Amino acid sequence: MIDLHTPTLLLVILVVSFTLSATLASVARRFKRDGMMYWAWGFVLHTLTYVLFVLRGHISDLVSVVLANTLLAISFALISEGVQQFLQVRWSRWLVWAPVPLVAVLFFVLLGHAHTRIILSGVIIAWQCALIAWQLGSQPDKTTGRGAYFVIGSFLAISAAFVLRTVGALSGEAGIGSINTSNPVQSATFLFVSVALMMVCQGLVLMTNERADERNRLLAMQDELTGLSNRRFIMEALALQLAQARRSGKPVSILMLDVDHFKSINDTYGHLTGDRVLRHLAAGLRNRLREQDMAGRWGGEEFLVVLPDTDAVGAVALADHLRADVESAGWSTPDGRSISLTVSIGVHTCDSAPEALDTVISAADEALYRAKQAGRNRVEQG
Ligand code: GH3
Ligand code: MG
Ligand code: MG
Repeated sequence: MIDLHTPTLLLVILVVSFTLSATLASVARRFKRDGMMYWAWGFVLHTLTYVLFVLRGHISDLVSVVLANTLLAISFALISEGVQQFLQVRWSRWLVWAPVPLVAVLFFVLLGHAHTRIILSGVIIAWQCALIAWQLGSQPDKTTGRGAYFVIGSFLAISAAFVLRTVGALSGEAGIGSINTSNPVQSATFLFVSVALMMVCQGLVLMTNERADERNRLLAMQDELTGLSNRRFIMEALALQLAQARRSGKPVSILMLDVDHFKSINDTYGHLTGDRVLRHLAAGLRNRLREQDMAGRWGGEEFLVVLPDTDAVGAVALADHLRADVESAGWSTPDGRSISLTVSIGVHTCDSAPEALDTVISAADEALYRAKQAGRNRVEQG
């Protein structure tokens, strides 16, 4: 069995923990709302705990035992809070924070009973780490990628290491007596902890980076004002649908929608009201469309809708529903002035012959132009 020098291992954990707290603190501001601030503080307290552990025997036991273990309990509670913030869920505060006063009181009372303390601290730390792992594991849809697995695995490993230490103490493993005595059980526990801590930190940073990447990916495809797809993304979606339709032989339709006299809405009510109208129209589009349909902001006050597996009859019918919806709903400004709104829509369907992307868009554009020429608030087919 390995039998390492426990004080050295404690020192290693201290150094590792300090490095990790510095790493987390350096990115904490950027990921403040993703739990990073809690994690950075959690690791700072964790580092402090091990400073006090290392000083065991040289400073008062009140500090090195009671305060140190209380700080350790707080550090895991903070990491738990960070996980909840990251997941945007709120579990019982009680479950997370109860170990803190429990440790403070019990360790004070048991100051002269090292053996019992080791058993208790093992159980409490194992519980706190398992809780963190469970929190993350229970919300797979709130995490993307592999970072969360690192964190879950590492906390389970820490939990298991402390269970091992408790079992060691319970089975009367010789010499476990104090935190800085060297013996195989302590060696295994603290070796495990030092490796797991590095994995935790990597996992946390990875988790937040993966989330940032996912946000950026969404932003890169979204129109900021309306939340619909942006022009680049809706173009790509249309190209994909055209290619698929060519293979499957199914029709694809598109609608080019333009708000009528939008300039006068801006001129009369202001640009901000114009923006609100655009958001309102986008929301209406989203509500009306089927799951597989896609809507994007083509530019200014123009929207492009892609309707897979939809023939000309279906597309014109939908376009007319959309047109009628906008006309009948209108829009009211927050101060109660009602604005009448109408849209013109150009429809184009590709059924059999393959068509190039540009041709499809031009056809819908021309149809839209005709709708405008014919008096607006109309649907025309091209
Ligand atoms: P028509 O019926 O012929 O389409 O008339 P229109 O006034 O809607 O057409 P025009 O293309 O002349 O005007 C479009 C206006 O849309 C002009 C521009 O100021 C406005 N616009 C473009 N983008 C935005 C935006 O993001 N927000 C707001 N509020 N207005 C925008
Ligand atoms: Mg317009
Ligand atoms: Mg326009």
